[in-house]
Amino acid sequence: MPLPDLPIIRLKPRQGRRLRSGAPWVFSNEVVMDNASKKLAPGMLVTLKAEDDGTALGTGYFNPKSLIAVRLLARTKAKIDSDFFQEKLRRALRLREHFYSAPFYRLVHAEADGLPGLVIDRFSDVCVVQITTAGMERLIDVLLSALNAVIAPNTVILRNDAPARALEGLESYVRPVSGEAPARLRIEENGAVYFADPLSGQKSGWYYDQQPNRAFMADLARGKRVLDAYCYSGGFGVLAAVRGADHVVGLDSSEPALTLARESADANGVASRCRFAKADVFDELERLGRSSERYEMVICDPPPFAPSRKDLEAAARAYRKLARLAAVLVAPGGFLMLASCSHNVPAERFEAECAAGLARAGRNAALIREGGAGPDHPIHPMLPETAYLKTVAYAVE
Ligand code: SAH
Repeated sequence: MPLPDLPIIRLKPRQGRRLRSGAPWVFSNEVVMDNASKKLAPGMLVTLKAEDDGTALGTGYFNPKSLIAVRLLARTKAKIDSDFFQEKLRRALRLREHFYSAPFYRLVHAEADGLPGLVIDRFSDVCVVQITTAGMERLIDVLLSALNAVIAPNTVILRNDAPARALEGLESYVRPVSGEAPARLRIEENGAVYFADPLSGQKSGWYYDQQPNRAFMADLARGKRVLDAYCYSGGFGVLAAVRGADHVVGLDSSEPALTLARESADANGVASRCRFAKADVFDELERLGRSSERYEMVICDPPPFAPSRKDLEAAARAYRKLARLAAVLVAPGGFLMLASCSHNVPAERFEAECAAGLARAGRNAALIREGGAGPDHPIHPMLPETAYLKTVAYAVE
C-alpha cells in the first residue's frame, strides 16, 4: 500500500542538531513556520524534511503552538497505524518481561519507548493510559486497537487529566474506554500487596517509579523505627514493615491515599506496626524535631517542588530545608533517603542541596546509594532531561 501523503514540515538551514544526534525532538525555532505550517491543526502527522535537499528525516506529529514543534515517531516515511503501535507495544512488553515476573509495571514510558506523549501503567488486566500531547490524542483509536491486540486488557482507563495537557490545548478528562473501572486496583510489587484508585488517585493511581528504591530501603529496615514522609498509599512504609521494621509512621496530606495505605498494611498483615497520619510534612518534621522522637530510617519522597524551570531556586531551597529537617530526626547510625521527581532540578543540584541540608543539621553522613526510576521507566539516551527521578540514600553517623 502506498504511504499517505502527509503535510511537510521543513527544517531551517543547519538546524535540527539534536534530531541528527538521535533525539526525537525538533524545536519550534528550528522549523520553517510558514502560513501553511501555522494553519496545521495541533498534532497532525507530518513528514519532516531537510531544508536543503528535501531528504525525508522521518514521520512525526507537529504542533505549531508547542515549543517542541515536532515529535518524531519514525526515522522514515512510515504509516502510523495499528501495526506501528503493535510493534512498539510488543517491544515495550518484551523489555518489561525481562525484569518483572508479574504484570505490574509501566508498560510504556513515552519517548524512551518510541511513543512520545504516551504513558501506560499496567495493573495486570487493567491498563491506565495517560496522553499528554495533541499528536498522541489524535492517534488514540489506533493506539487502543493495538493495545487490545497486544495485551487484550479487560479494562482500559484514559487518565487524561495531567495539567501538561492544557499547554497542548487539550481538555482534561478521565474515562474508562472498555470494561468496568474498578474502584480499587490490587498491585503486587516487591512481594507486597498495595491498592490504588485508578480514577481519582494521583497520576495513574500508583508510582511504579520508586519500586527499586522501596526494595533497597526495605531491606535495611529490619528492627527499625521508620518514618515515611509523603507516604501516599504506603509504597515505602508498608514494604519496610513487611521486611521487618518494628514500627512505621507514614505522613501524607491526602486522606484517600492514607486510607489505601491502611488497607495495604492490613492486607499484608502489618497493620499493628503501621500508623498512617494526615499531616503537612514540613510542619510535622519541625514539630518532631523539637520533640525527642527519633527514627532509624527516614524517607522523604515529596511531590515535585519545581513544576517549571523558573521554580528551580525555590525548589532547591525546599530540598535543602527538607534534608535538614529530616536529618535531625535520624537516630545515630540510621539511614536517610531523599527523592526528587522534579525534572527541572538536575541531579547534581539536588545532591548538593541534600548535602547542604545534612551539614546544616550538623550531621555527618555517607552517601550509600544514588538511585532513579526502575527499568520500566527507561531513559531516552539523547534526552537525559527525561531522567526525572533522583534518589539519594545516606548512612547517618
Ligand atoms: N512515596 C510515595 C509517593 C509520594 S508522591 C510512594 O512511594 O508511592 C508525593 C505525596 O506527597 C503525595 O501523596 C501527596 O499527597 C503528598 N503531599 C504533597 N504535599 C504534601 C504536604 N505538604 N504534606 C504532606 N504530604 C504532601
